[in-house]
Amino acid sequence: MPRKFVFDCPGCDAEVVVDADVRSEILAGGCVMCRSSADAGSFVPVSEADVERDPTR
Ligand SMILES: [Zn+2]
Repeated sequence: MPRKFVFDCPGCDAEVVVDADVRSEILAGGCVMCRSSADAGSFVPVSEADVERDPTR
């Protein structure tokens, strides 16, 4: 089961759950919505239980 992270964008206030692959893409290329650069501090690991409750999924 891939790890999930909450990406809390410092540039556009987006807060989305992403997997490790998407996290890597955002770290490399910036936020997919506003193009702000992001660092590891913009991601918070979440448990699977938290992901299940996430209304954005
Ligand atoms: Zn953004």
